[in-house]
Amino acid sequence: MTGIVLGRVDPQGSLLETRLMRRHLVTRGSFYERLADHGDELFSDGEFAHLYSERMGRPSIPPSVMIRALLCATHDRTSDAETSRRTRVDADWKAAMGVDDDFEGIAARTFSLMRARMMAADADNALFEATLAKAVAAGVFKGPLRSIIDSSPVNGAGAVQSSYELIRGFLGRVARAAAGILSGPTAAAVAPLLAGKAAIDWQDPAARKEHLGVLVAAGRVVLAEVAGSGDPAVAEAAELLAQVIDQDVDEDGDGNPQIRQGVARDRVVSHSDPEMRHGRKSASRRFDGYKMDVISDEASELVLGVEVRAANAGDGEGAAPLLGHIRDTLAGLAPAVEMGLVLADMAYSDGDVRVAVEELGMDLVAKVPPMSNGGRYPKTDFYIDADRGEVTCPAGEVSTDARPTTDHKGRPAWLFAFGAESCVGCPLRPECTSAAAGRTVMVGVHEARMADARAAQLDPKIIAMLRLRCKVERKIDHLQDLGMRKARYRGRRKTKLQALLAATVANFKRLAVLGAFDTAPQLAAAA
Ligand code: SF4
Repeated sequence: MTGIVLGRVDPQGSLLETRLMRRHLVTRGSFYERLADHGDELFSDGEFAHLYSERMGRPSIPPSVMIRALLCATHDRTSDAETSRRTRVDADWKAAMGVDDDFEGIAARTFSLMRARMMAADADNALFEATLAKAVAAGVFKGPLRSIIDSSPVNGAGAVQSSYELIRGFLGRVARAAAGILSGPTAAAVAPLLAGKAAIDWQDPAARKEHLGVLVAAGRVVLAEVAGSGDPAVAEAAELLAQVIDQDVDEDGDGNPQIRQGVARDRVVSHSDPEMRHGRKSASRRFDGYKMDVISDEASELVLGVEVRAANAGDGEGAAPLLGHIRDTLAGLAPAVEMGLVLADMAYSDGDVRVAVEELGMDLVAKVPPMSNGGRYPKTDFYIDADRGEVTCPAGEVSTDARPTTDHKGRPAWLFAFGAESCVGCPLRPECTSAAAGRTVMVGVHEARMADARAAQLDPKIIAMLRLRCKVERKIDHLQDLGMRKARYRGRRKTKLQALLAATVANFKRLAVLGAFDTAPQLAAAA
């Protein structure tokens, strides 16, 4: 990065600092006071020197000052404009930032540049990991860690749009990116479509359908003309345009475009943030945006890691990658600190997730969802002996008639059939099956693992352990209080930066509670 040379805070300090001159104005025991007194124990200018040019350009605001300002902005959930104002006038902020009392503040646009620098260098992750390094140095982590994982919805910053708006938005994006590539007639035909929402009778289904046909036809002509363009910006925009046409449009019986019924699994929902997706927290709770994974340490209640994924990603899919990242980070900080048990809710109970966590050398403790079968005997009422390759039903009949099949995820499985000869005259039949051909039971690849987990969860120790899982929910509440209910910025990576800043603030506050800051505030006596 060139153009701005690294500015540094004077290591000797300054007697004009707000935390000294105006100490009486700094809120006692506040986040700001702790950041003023202990911020230098976590991050210094030197650790962020790589974000700046070594020789060229004008001096920057020292990165440690910028980062403290970003943490204050995260803590107070301020806009860049309000952040700028507070860096100029707020005594709490000035003390936290470690600047002199006559500091003139930081221009609002500087913060977006700083965020871009941090993302490019993964410095937001390094900032968060500095809190873990501090915890290690202070001896906070003792013995194998018992971690807890959960996820929460993050509403995206982009507007959720209709199929018409999406196609028009991405058509415009391709047209702008491919301004020198499109033929004159095509550019002229597309231009009126991009001028704004079409002046049609939107209440009239026929008018809407006709307009959809115009948009789709224009989109297909544009896609044909830019096909093979070597310009990455054109290719990316064209891919999104093709995706929204494919996801939202199919053909009626006459081959005319019509809005597709139902929702495509990976549907793009926003032109302004194409990475947003539809997600569900429960059957009745829908959201649009992202999903934030959080893993915390049960004992210290520090956040060990956060990740941001698409809202439609499965909860369990995020567990092993984030656990692996945390394991590697901690191994670099303190090889003696190991990851042991992982507590999770039923969303993480799938056998694939259990295997992935076990392969990392950890054990997943997550309640297995209860089985139901429409009021009839569920599979758990059958005894499955995988070694012998047989299943015994509640009436004592044994089936060895196993037929290869696949489960709902496409994994190989066996379908054990009891057959009409066993079931037709069975007195338990009303409680078991209505199938004329008799009852079948599917046995999947993880059957034994899930049976073991089901048995283990009856153990009072496991029941007590799972009660501790709510600690991560409290941690997620804290992160949501720091703004993680809604993305401030568009795009997954920027939302991850937001999550890492929130987790850094949460950990900084927690480290203070844990007594991890070893030095008595050097200048507290000045208060
Ligand atoms: S209906 Fe068939 S599978 Fe069910 S209990 Fe009776 S014999 Fe067993």
